[in-house]
Amino acid sequence: MSICQDKEAIDVMVEEAKSYTQYGKVADYIPALKVADPDMLSLAIYENDETCVTAGNTEETFTLQSISKVITLALALMDRGEEEVFSRVGMEPTGDPFNSIIKLETHSPSKPLNPMINAGALAVTSMIYGSSIDEKLGRLLTFIHEITGNSSIRYDDTVARSEYETANLNRSLCYYMKQHNVIDDNVEHLLELYTKQCAIEVSCKDLAKIGYVIANEGKHVQSQRPIIPLHIARILKTFMVTCGMYNASGEFAIRVGIPAKSGVSGGIMASVPYGVGIGIYGPALDDKGNSMAGMKLLESLSQRFDLSIF
Ligand code: GLN
Repeated sequence: MSICQDKEAIDVMVEEAKSYTQYGKVADYIPALKVADPDMLSLAIYENDETCVTAGNTEETFTLQSISKVITLALALMDRGEEEVFSRVGMEPTGDPFNSIIKLETHSPSKPLNPMINAGALAVTSMIYGSSIDEKLGRLLTFIHEITGNSSIRYDDTVARSEYETANLNRSLCYYMKQHNVIDDNVEHLLELYTKQCAIEVSCKDLAKIGYVIANEGKHVQSQRPIIPLHIARILKTFMVTCGMYNASGEFAIRVGIPAKSGVSGGIMASVPYGVGIGIYGPALDDKGNSMAGMKLLESLSQRFDLSIF
């Protein structure tokens, strides 16, 4: 049976996973994220022919945070090509928390290990084409509008400002990389763009559609028109497997086995090759910054529908 025909089982799984929200905590290092409701859990799934299963309050919107790293990587690769992008950011998992600086210092050359940690994402964002912050952000939003078919997607200014004003760790990553010639941007400009990119607001349905396009070799949900080149969609999925759930990516690969990317707002986007996109929102996080109930829900979905790629 296809996933979309088994709505009853999915509702039960969402209810069961919801009980895990009590063991997590909403992110508070970005002050504006503290107001999220920790009990929330919602889900949207796109499967093959645009059918969509939803459970929980899927109208609720939240910010992309680290999930944006996958999308900016796609855009930077389309703008600059693999050779240039990977001359400034590596392809290896770190095993460290997403905001760690340690590998920048202990590795030579001093480039970030991958695009899914903050240092790597900042370097990737610095490669998006555009002559101003507005132009770069505008291109990113247009790209997201195209992927989701939802042109009302914007960034949340309160969340962006809240992060910008408190992003001293990310500032230090930028200065470190600037010293070592990984980036040459004005750091405050780069941080403004990065915090706005992280504050782009979506619903679970939007996430499921982005996940679907990546799963579906970069082709659009309805028209099947290519939006992301096939080789880039493959690179995205590979990073989602090796580094998408931060330093829990290995355990996640074993327990769930689906390319996925999480963000500290509590979102998770998952892409089951070749026909399923999943969007989840559950803001109560575990100690590594992944949605507690969201991970449980993906584990149940993977088991029930045999979704592991391995
Ligand atoms: N904006 C967040 C940060 O840079 C994103 C981190 C995350 O979602 N893990 O800290």
